[in-house]
Amino acid sequence: MPEVTVIGDGPAGSAAALAALDAGSPVTLHSRSIRPRHRVCGEFLSPEFARVAEALGVWERLAAAGPAPIRRMRMRLGSRELQCSLPPGVYGLSRFCLDALLSQAAVERGARLVHSSPVRNSFPTVVATGRKHASRAPKAERLFAFKAHFYGPADDAVELHFFPGGYAGVSPVENGLTNVCGIARLGRIQEFAFDFDALLAAVPSLRERLAPLARCWEWISAGPICPVGLPAGLPVGRYLAGDALAFADPFTGSGLTSALITGRLAGLAAAAAEPVDSYLAACRRAIGPVLRNSAWFRRALVSEWAGVLVGLIPPSWLFRLTRPRVG
Ligand SMILES: Cc1cc2nc3c(=O)[nH]c(=O)nc-3n(C[C@H](O)[C@H](O)[C@H](O)COP(=O)(O)OP(=O)(O)OC[C@H]3O[C@@H](n4cnc5c(N)ncnc54)[C@H](O)[C@@H]3O)c2cc1C
Repeated sequence: MPEVTVIGDGPAGSAAALAALDAGSPVTLHSRSIRPRHRVCGEFLSPEFARVAEALGVWERLAAAGPAPIRRMRMRLGSRELQCSLPPGVYGLSRFCLDALLSQAAVERGARLVHSSPVRNSFPTVVATGRKHASRAPKAERLFAFKAHFYGPADDAVELHFFPGGYAGVSPVENGLTNVCGIARLGRIQEFAFDFDALLAAVPSLRERLAPLARCWEWISAGPICPVGLPAGLPVGRYLAGDALAFADPFTGSGLTSALITGRLAGLAAAAAEPVDSYLAACRRAIGPVLRNSAWFRRALVSEWAGVLVGLIPPSWLFRLTRPRVG
């Protein structure tokens, strides 16, 4: 079995390392960070996540960290509110915890962890370095994201609050904490002089939702956020996975599951020296519909008709049509 190089120890890279090790390849896992850190993310694990994590042999370890069960989804836009129940197996788990547990599992199973990028081109390589897509939107239109954890009464719902120029998700994570993660156009953030508390307080439904909660730490932010579809092809011997391959809108809550799915496929393909085209075809089957449908919903939700459309799009559709395919 060829030695597999994996660049990036986020969810996609760790999944690739675990899959390649299971297939019998030695693995070198390149990481940029020495310690776990918080990342800008809604930290929502979709119902397919546990199945992929089980296939990678890591679900038990993640479940032991006490992810918060999420049973309902609520969408708010102005005075409109829509709700649906979610299938079993939806959880909230912080990236601080998730990323560390996944990369630890890969190391315990024999991956050699290196705190640097590879100095030369080695093949096969899984490239799982996350989002690096440039936004072509005018500066004020570019989307930036921000996140913090909050103390206070926890709920079992994931809530999406839409407002002019953005939206924010509110959902529980482990240890009774609540994740608040927003995405907004830069122009809108500038109107509030980068004061994310003030930006959220200007939205009545969020002001009410966050009133009993207290922020645990300073906001962290990232961007620009730019959804990108699958590429037409890949260079020979380089298996792009996770966000480095394609990036769906965060509101789908499918990014982490897609990262595990494509990471696992990439690790298996690299270990078997499979042609990149057949790897890409497998990714297209697994996550192609998520990318297509989420692009459609995004256009609808940011249009001037968003208020009407939120009334017409049942949240259960939004959820069902943006699920990746496992296996
Ligand atoms: C605002 C926002 C909210 C989101 N909310 C959700 C959600 O609720 N649920 C969900 O499922 N998805 C969500 N997503 C998507 C999810 O965060 C991503 O899909 C997921 O992180 C992809 O994992 P990854 O491993 O591909 O990339 P990343 O998580 O970005 O990991 C890449 C890793 O590679 C490392 N790296 C980069 N370059 C190098 C290098 N040269 N050498 C070594 N290491 C390197 C980085 O340090 C990092 O650790 C959200 C995304 C955003 C932006």
